[in-house]
Amino acid sequence: MVYIRYEEWPKRPEWPEWPERPKEVDRVQVLLAEDDDGVAAALVEVLYDHGHITRRVRYGRDVLTYHRSSDLLLLDLGLPDTDGLDVLRALRAVSDLPVVVLTARGDERSVVRGLRLGADDYLVKPVRLAELLARIDAVTRRNATRNAPAASAAALASAVRTVRAGDVEVELDARRVRVAGAEVELTTKEFDILAVLAGRAGTAVSREQLLDEVWGDAHHAVSRSLDVHLTQLRAKLRRPGLLTTIRGFGYRFGNLDED
Ligand code: CA
Repeated sequence: MVYIRYEEWPKRPEWPEWPERPKEVDRVQVLLAEDDDGVAAALVEVLYDHGHITRRVRYGRDVLTYHRSSDLLLLDLGLPDTDGLDVLRALRAVSDLPVVVLTARGDERSVVRGLRLGADDYLVKPVRLAELLARIDAVTRRNATRNAPAASAAALASAVRTVRAGDVEVELDARRVRVAGAEVELTTKEFDILAVLAGRAGTAVSREQLLDEVWGDAHHAVSRSLDVHLTQLRAKLRRPGLLTTIRGFGYRFGNLDED
């Protein structure tokens, strides 16, 4: 990684000067919580070169100050004031901002805990540039879909898609799921996974397909995080027959009655 001197990056546009939240979905306002100046500067530079704007903060407490004006949080776990996981827990109490955790290799327990606390993804340091940009693009695409304003009443009416299996009801567009009439709280990622499977109910979906649609690539690094999310999803839905594992292939959203 090429390190850019810390002193160089304040030349970039300051966050408050941005005139408008950009309409186009390809520009992302990234909040970066990273205490290492070298790493932070390099990330800011690289993101800027790819059209994204980054506000870098050094302390975990600052995340809770600036998250509202951000599209995505890149969260280092080792911060000087608080543990990144505590920051994530506090953030999740108030926001579903997409979060990508930055972690040191071999820190698997933190990764699993992070995903369970609602992180959308994680990247192992040193962060590979192409991978970072791919993750950001994936998050951007999903958010664009999620936040797309209802163009018209007709479009809205035709867009209401609900998938049912037994007493499970998945409203794909409202991003709601009910089990026996009670709404189940899912993280963004858990719902994304469920939506891909429910959208093709009764059909086997391969792991690669799922990884590609939910994470934006079928890269093996996120494979483990898929397992963690699926375990959480199954635990929350409490309908063992709903998400069937097709060994050596993938998963199927099935009819509960048949299982
Ligand atoms: Ca750190």
